Amino acid sequence: MVSELTAFQYLETLSAKLNTLKHQGNYRYFLPVQKSVETHPVFEYLVDGQTRTAVNWTSNDYLGMSVDADVINEFVKVAENAGIGSGGTRNISGTTLYHTDLEKNLAALHGKSDALIFSSAYLANSGAISVLARAFPDTLIFSDEENHASMIEGVKLSRCEKQIFKHNDLKHLENLLKSVDAARPKIILFESVYSMSGTIAPIDKICALAKKYNALTYLDEVHAVGMYGKHGEGVAGEMNCSDEVDVINGTLAKSFGCIGGYIAANNILTDYIRSFGESFIFTSSMPPAICAAAIVSIEKIKNNPALRSRFHKNVKTLRKSLRDAGISFDENPSHITRIIIGDAKKTKNATDRLLKEFGIYLQPINFPTVPRGNEGLRIVVTAIHTEAHIAEFSRALKIVVNEL
Ligand code: PLP
Repeated sequence: MVSELTAFQYLETLSAKLNTLKHQGNYRYFLPVQKSVETHPVFEYLVDGQTRTAVNWTSNDYLGMSVDADVINEFVKVAENAGIGSGGTRNISGTTLYHTDLEKNLAALHGKSDALIFSSAYLANSGAISVLARAFPDTLIFSDEENHASMIEGVKLSRCEKQIFKHNDLKHLENLLKSVDAARPKIILFESVYSMSGTIAPIDKICALAKKYNALTYLDEVHAVGMYGKHGEGVAGEMNCSDEVDVINGTLAKSFGCIGGYIAANNILTDYIRSFGESFIFTSSMPPAICAAAIVSIEKIKNNPALRSRFHKNVKTLRKSLRDAGISFDENPSHITRIIIGDAKKTKNATDRLLKEFGIYLQPINFPTVPRGNEGLRIVVTAIHTEAHIAEFSRALKIVVNEL
């Protein structure tokens, strides 16, 4: 029997760590939002038993497809026919025609011979990267320093050696590539639109380096699919270099308004991941109705450049409005508008005031999502925000930021 004095204090240890997090201002508070098809991006929430409304400025439902009537109708129709859960992993009766049709659709979107869907893009990244890297002898992974947690997890799971290159820095990447034995297998991991800083990778140039040094390329287009490219295929498509990228990763949960993630690639590569990828094989497959809804969403987005134009016009309108209000932000080339405050507590203060006093919902972006000192606001305007929403947002932000 362990005495009380020597027994390890599990809950006390966890509590102390949580208190430190709170003290640093990095604790994450989750606001239950009551989303509505009718009013999106305006939602209701409860505070002290009272219902209030707020405008969502933090959603990744970039094109408003989560509330699109055709997508919802398809979801309901297929759910009524096929039920909700698939009832199995992909190889134990969890593959329906909806799953395979969605994969065909995604392969076509990216001009690849095959695609594989996962329960999320997080699982697609961690699963595909780890399995691919492990497939070759002594693979060396080159990973951009701003890569998402899901890619970092893939690297960790692979247990392969890694080298981190400076963000979007071609010279640094080339120096690293050059110093490695030419015959050693190599994989370069990067994103097209970086989700926090909003920078865009020189995809074509990274692919040229990959070719020169015989490396595979793995590109996360999670924050680009739907919004970039002629048909919403992402930035690689816009730069005319999709063919040069070996694996494209995307999500169905942001601009496509559903849930799930995928990779699109050559059919040998996808077959390998289908056959060996743990996060693909050992989990129940996505609900058929979600697959069907995602197909409708992709088709609608493909054939609706006006929706993409409206989205990018709103980004321009928001940025002009912020400039007119004297609010400085990162002038990056993408749709992600970031204001660095540089202090976790001040950032939390600002978002609390915006919600309470102005009905504006933003989440503070903190460590470890961004490095310490880069805490701030990540603003997302969608295709369905109105000019009135934007004007009110800038007015409120000016007051709050000036008083920080
Ligand atoms: N990759 C990036 C760059 C992301 O920002 C995210 C999520 O926000 C993911 C992957 C994971 O996407 P999902 O939400 O589909 O798991």
